[in-house]
Amino acid sequence: MNQSNSRTHAIVIGGSLGGLLTARVLSQHFQRVTILERDEVPEQPEARKGQPQARHLHGLLATGLQTMTRYFPDLPQALVNGGAVMGDFAEQMQWYTYGGYRQRFHMGVPATTMSRPLLESLIRERVLALPNMRMMDNCGVNQLLITPDGQRVTGVEVALRHEGNQLLEVLADLVVDCTGRGSRSPQWLVEMGFDAPPVSEVKVNVAYATRLYRRLPTDPRGTLWTLITPEAPRESRFGAIFPIEGDRWIVSMGGWHGDHPPTDEAGFLAFARNLPAPDIYDIISQAEPLSDITPIKFPHSVRRHYEKLRRFPAGFLVLGDAISSFNPTYGQGMTSAALQAAELDDLLAKRTPPEKLALAFFKRTAKVVDMPWQLAVGEDFRFPQTSGPKPPGVDFINRYVSKVHRATLHDPVVGLALLKVMNLMAPPPSLFHPKIVWRVLRGKRPSIEQSPMRQPAAAGD
Ligand SMILES: Cc1cc2nc3c(=O)[nH]c(=O)nc-3n(C[C@H](O)[C@H](O)[C@H](O)COP(=O)(O)OP(=O)(O)OC[C@H]3O[C@@H](n4cnc5c(N)ncnc54)[C@H](O)[C@@H]3O)c2cc1C
Repeated sequence: MNQSNSRTHAIVIGGSLGGLLTARVLSQHFQRVTILERDEVPEQPEARKGQPQARHLHGLLATGLQTMTRYFPDLPQALVNGGAVMGDFAEQMQWYTYGGYRQRFHMGVPATTMSRPLLESLIRERVLALPNMRMMDNCGVNQLLITPDGQRVTGVEVALRHEGNQLLEVLADLVVDCTGRGSRSPQWLVEMGFDAPPVSEVKVNVAYATRLYRRLPTDPRGTLWTLITPEAPRESRFGAIFPIEGDRWIVSMGGWHGDHPPTDEAGFLAFARNLPAPDIYDIISQAEPLSDITPIKFPHSVRRHYEKLRRFPAGFLVLGDAISSFNPTYGQGMTSAALQAAELDDLLAKRTPPEKLALAFFKRTAKVVDMPWQLAVGEDFRFPQTSGPKPPGVDFINRYVSKVHRATLHDPVVGLALLKVMNLMAPPPSLFHPKIVWRVLRGKRPSIEQSPMRQPAAAGD
């Protein structure tokens, strides 16, 4: 144990989605993996205190589902068995924006809508079934253990919550911090004599409110899911209603820069009525509520630039929201965590030496995070109140992307190009391909009616 090249034991701190995906990857490279989670973890799909966001609508990008399926091949079927809705991404999604509904079309890319607790419980079940895996819940990690020269992490100190916070030292060859946005790694690094990572913070002052409703099988909308997003900065509210397991709708609404939804019945309905399209109000004004209205605030997106550090202790990594927590409106966090775990898998498979692992890993995670960060922050800077490091050229890009959004109302080829970027399947510059620019700029009038489903024509048609 604790010899520099040993792969006997790995610890993952945090048993939420980032931690579970990391544990799955580590199980292939270490003899034993232990997940240490501060909360008590229920067997049934349920949000916990340490992940309040799990009560809110979670959309899974196509790349996220694809990456998770690579590690859990039966996940799509398990989701269906659990009552999740599965379909084609662009066929199932009804998206109102910029004064109209986007053209729906067949994209050939699977998508699912489910509650976040269902997705997490199915992944947890599969991770905990691995023979070299164990989870210790009710275990809060207080600090890292280090070698006397302070250069290498050798384990963690844990408070056993169900045993009067008795302290326990757990040793490991690798410790991965997956404790989310509130990660104490920057502080731990400073205590060990290293630098904390530089931080980018973009203030968005977003808040959500979420409620569950009964979904009737006879509902004429079937299992379509609806997004309503603003033409920023003129509008600043969004809403989404997704069909989820248990014949329920989950509805989350929110807004930027203080345009926040109330949490009382009348205020929640009034907020829905004032969204740019009537779909959500039409459903929830008739449907039976099944839960309270739950709020959550998201003051700013945060990105910790571990890739900029020159020195980092061996035997230690940080992953998931602990690196980057994006404005959740764009649905990127789970996919980013999955892609980061896949990068770790690749580096471990290449037998990257332990003393080089952290810097190589953070270089790769920076690339993973760049694209969703650029997309989220770019959209957020449409609002003049947004503050923080503004990417160069963002105003110009946003003016063009507004035209892209408008073109998607009538042109499924542009719709496909945009959806690929939003699902992290293609890089943002692909929207500047001459064939797309030509279609965007020729400026056909958008139809504001819901159009019949189309097949995207071949690019250039
Ligand atoms: C309102 C909201 C909506 C969102 N919607 C989406 C969406 O639509 N799509 C999407 O992809 N993403 C969404 N996200 C982001 C998504 O929830 C996260 O990216 C995802 O949960 C992965 O995060 P994580 O596992 O890194 O951290 P978290 O989910 O925050 O988990 C951290 C875990 O660490 C545990 N922990 C903390 N400290 C300790 C400690 N000291 N010791 C032991 N355990 C500890 C916590 O209890 C928790 O279980 C949303 C986020 C918010 C806030």
